[in-house]
Amino acid sequence: MFGFIKKSLSKTVAAIKTVAPKKKITFTKDELEDILLEADVEYALVEIILNEIYQDKITREILRSKLLATLAYTSYKEPKFTPPFVELIVGVNGAGKTTTIAKLAYKYKQEGKKVLLGAGDTFRAAAIEQLTLWANRLDIPVVSSKQGHDSSAVAYDAIDSAKAKGFDNVIIDTAGRLHTQTNLANELKKVKRICDKAHKGAPHRTVLIIDGTQGNSAISQAKAFNEMIGIDGIIITKLDGTAKGGSIFSIAYALELPILYVGTGEQPENLTPFDKYEFVDGLLD
Ligand code: GDP
Repeated sequence: MFGFIKKSLSKTVAAIKTVAPKKKITFTKDELEDILLEADVEYALVEIILNEIYQDKITREILRSKLLATLAYTSYKEPKFTPPFVELIVGVNGAGKTTTIAKLAYKYKQEGKKVLLGAGDTFRAAAIEQLTLWANRLDIPVVSSKQGHDSSAVAYDAIDSAKAKGFDNVIIDTAGRLHTQTNLANELKKVKRICDKAHKGAPHRTVLIIDGTQGNSAISQAKAFNEMIGIDGIIITKLDGTAKGGSIFSIAYALELPILYVGTGEQPENLTPFDKYEFVDGLLD
């Protein structure tokens, strides 16, 4: 059983179990609609799923395959790369970028890797301070500059330093002020270009952080980021507490991007790799 579903999405799981107890083998379309809505799947996606079902009696197996189909894009393949592996972390302010960077850094460190952080959100002094706090707490070095300085210079210095000192991973924070999109688009594009100058092929992975409690607005923000610089994978945060598990389906379906991890709390260890089979089976078992 997918641990994070049991703990964090317990309300969703309990709701599904009420409308679809395990002894129930087949469902009508009406019942299926209830199951999906109880799982917090967005209504538009529920309609799409229902419209593609032609049987009168829907089995658990059909339901399972339909749910898996909405997560068709969730497999990720790591590209070939020369170390260090450079990741660019993007997303709107408040989505959980800084916290997720700390979680990734913690995970890599646990795996015995040498990790370096780059405080690339030079637009907000608080972002630099917060990332530095995490770095100190995790005993991981961070490259930063003053507020207002060029974020691509921070990215370059971080990668350059990591190469010189034989680091395995570089995780670079970026600005998330989506309300001034043009400037941000140019800034992010430049950061991406400079990463490649510092280390051919970098960034090897551009990861979008999405707040799982934000529904449709998170999806349109995500589309904007994808158009701006191209996203390789997403991490959905805040899937704990009153989180809506069904948003995972809506986000994956709308964006056609792999879900790498889900965030289930504010601590460094609250990051779970996403496996679509475990996720769906956890909901339906
Ligand atoms: P940033 O502005 O994108 O860098 O966002 P932060 O990393 O500062 O996160 C914003 C808030 O969300 C902070 O209070 C975090 O503790 C909280 N947060 C981030 N990820 C999670 C998560 O997975 N679960 C919960 N409950 N809170 C989270």
